[in-house]
Amino acid sequence: MEHCLKPSRIAIVGAGPSGMYCALNILSKFTELSFNNYKLTVFDKAPALRTLLPTGNGRCNITNSISDVREFCANYPRGEKFLYSIFSKHFSYDSLDFFNSIGIKTYAQDDGRIFPVSNSAKDVKDKMLNEFFKYKNAKLSNKKIESRADLKDFDFIVIACGSRGVDNLISSFNHSVVEFKPALCALNIENNIYPKGVSVQSLDGDFIFTDKGISGPLAFKISSINSRKTMPYEIKIRLFDAQNLIDEIKLNPKKSITNILSKFVPKSFAQALVQDDDKNCCEVSKLKLEEYSNLNLKVVSHGLNGEIVNSGGVKLDELDKNCRSKIHNNLWFCGEVLDIDGFCGGFNLQNCWSSAYCVAQDVVKSCLG
Ligand SMILES: Cc1cc2nc3c(=O)[nH]c(=O)nc-3n(C[C@H](O)[C@H](O)[C@H](O)COP(=O)(O)OP(=O)(O)OC[C@H]3O[C@@H](n4cnc5c(N)ncnc54)[C@H](O)[C@@H]3O)c2cc1C
Repeated sequence: MEHCLKPSRIAIVGAGPSGMYCALNILSKFTELSFNNYKLTVFDKAPALRTLLPTGNGRCNITNSISDVREFCANYPRGEKFLYSIFSKHFSYDSLDFFNSIGIKTYAQDDGRIFPVSNSAKDVKDKMLNEFFKYKNAKLSNKKIESRADLKDFDFIVIACGSRGVDNLISSFNHSVVEFKPALCALNIENNIYPKGVSVQSLDGDFIFTDKGISGPLAFKISSINSRKTMPYEIKIRLFDAQNLIDEIKLNPKKSITNILSKFVPKSFAQALVQDDDKNCCEVSKLKLEEYSNLNLKVVSHGLNGEIVNSGGVKLDELDKNCRSKIHNNLWFCGEVLDIDGFCGGFNLQNCWSSAYCVAQDVVKSCLG
């Protein structure tokens, strides 16, 4: 069935995970409706799905197995409430069905993270692109879109450009941007006296000392929670229960404090904690013991490694529940360009899949009038 005479011209800016997922969902919906009177162009200044390749260290942590929507949403320091509605229309199992339908089978790890069975982000990229190229009314265009003016020939516009160097593009549509700031990255600390390369399992999570500070899951989580804070800021990591340390001292009153602490943290870290103040553990005050059980650090800057998403993005109150602009009726945003970001574990890609799906359905509805 044909719904209008002139072909609907759809532009998607960004061939990253969100832009390509949006494109594939528009294309499959049109096919399901036997609608052919459209032209869809995905613009990208770089090779399509290039940003998918490093995800999950090359394995692509597609999503997470948490099945309760509210519990899932609690993993987004920003955007949690906005996502309730998005996920009610398209949740992780819907994305997994979609991937399955294009030949990407998945499995869940014990920690909840879901990966393709191939353990290959490249495989996900290739399968998504193969699917895209099956549609004759769709094309990729290797072009940088500078501003709204570049898209004047299009009827429907989806901005899926991610969060790097895109402020001007967003502003050209008169939308406000919450300033982009790094999250999910390593943290550099003041006065780093700790042994590089040593891993620590704390009550708050695991981390590793780097030459400039800390990295690893706990560091990423702390960077995410504090992404909007101004540097420097103080953090406290609960290393172990102080009472367990006191109990251990009662059993071994003649040992040195470094020796006792080494039962709770790696020895080289225990030495750094105690510094020149090693003494018989019985001589250490209760207050000092409590101090040892917490690691207080001053974060001075972001480190370079991590998943490194950006917090910030297009202001959510300028969008409706389908991520459609309240300023321009023919404009949508999806993926990391939104002021939404999650913790490590597949949550950022799930934001891409779900927001892109909602946009795709709304674009199709608008196209069909
Ligand atoms: C190292 C690393 C590992 C990660 N691992 C995971 C993981 O395992 N699981 C997870 O959930 N998340 C992970 N993430 C986060 C996840 O990759 C991002 O959230 C996701 O890529 C965002 O997708 P997007 O399509 O919205 O934006 P992007 O991936 O940034 O894609 C945007 C695209 O738009 C293009 N573009 C931008 N501006 C323009 C313009 N003006 N004109 C034309 N094209 C333009 C860019 O070239 C790019 O291709 C990881 C991130 C990093 C950096």
